[in-house]
Amino acid sequence: MPEDLAIRTEGLTKKFGDFTAVDHVDLEVRRGEVFGFLGANGSGKSTTIRMLCGLLAPTEGRAEVSGMDVREHPERIREVIGYVAQFFYLYGDMTVRENMELFGGIYGVPEDELPGRIDRWQERLDLGQYSRVLGADLSMGMQRRLSLACAVLHQPRLLLLDEPTSGVDPLVRREFFDVIGELQDEGTTILVTTHVMDEAERCNRMSLMDRGRIVAVGTPAEIKEMSGGRIYSLEVRDLAKALDLLQEREGLRQAQPFGRQLQFQLAQGGDDEAEEIAAWLRDQGLDVDDPEPVRPTIEHTFLTLLGGSGSEEDDGQ
Ligand code: ADP
Ligand code: MG
Repeated sequence: MPEDLAIRTEGLTKKFGDFTAVDHVDLEVRRGEVFGFLGANGSGKSTTIRMLCGLLAPTEGRAEVSGMDVREHPERIREVIGYVAQFFYLYGDMTVRENMELFGGIYGVPEDELPGRIDRWQERLDLGQYSRVLGADLSMGMQRRLSLACAVLHQPRLLLLDEPTSGVDPLVRREFFDVIGELQDEGTTILVTTHVMDEAERCNRMSLMDRGRIVAVGTPAEIKEMSGGRIYSLEVRDLAKALDLLQEREGLRQAQPFGRQLQFQLAQGGDDEAEEIAAWLRDQGLDVDDPEPVRPTIEHTFLTLLGGSGSEEDDGQ
């Protein structure tokens, strides 16, 4: 495994009975990057991460973390990674500080260093005033912070964050990503799963997963390019009728409502072709404004590559 990689998988596969949850995944995460692991619910993100942590044995294929095979060195891998599971797994009947003491101990933080590290992380994540509060009494946002604090106490080189911000408000989400950026500056590699698009924007590179397979890998800009043809937005009075009509029309990749507007993507061409479509809709008796070009987003690529199945919003899971 090349030195500059933090994670490498080859043909990594997990089956549950007949069902293939992770299907021959080849993934390379470079040291020092923040890598976004995107995909709709059920696409296999958590299962992949659990294999990388050594918590779940692959059915087929291999995975290396920090140069170590996950099957051969599960114990040593746990020393170099920090893992925040998708669902809250801390002890509800223990205080914030007690949880941190417990996890610090489990991960082998030297006893004389532990109190100082706990103090620093409590301060950094604004947990200080909750130090004596029971895990179960914390808000979702505070639980997430505590999960992160417990995962970083042993100063892991690689952090695996499984939807660390689901169920929390956008402000907490942004703060979380600020901390992720700071950890990156300190040399940590971070793999973070999300299906929230503004989080994806903050990653250096990302992959899109669909039904167990990786369907795209790249920087946010590269991923947006993969959306294909030019995208336009159109103000139209009768949105439903316009959508119906456009289903029949050749030369379009996709058409969908976007708020009160209609967005469509051309298979080829640009402004002239978009004008032509608007004119054609007018000919069909619709009240249509001039089309405005729209910058492609990661979500557009999702729609293009996943055939419309990948645009689920954060549902708090
Ligand atoms: P994601 O994290 O992308 O939402 P998961 O990795 O949790 O997806 O799940 C991928 C698929 O595998 C889902 O269809 C899920 O129901 C299934 N799955 C996950 N864990 C198990 C399990 N232990 N037994 C059976 N099926 C599972
Ligand atoms: Mg998951």
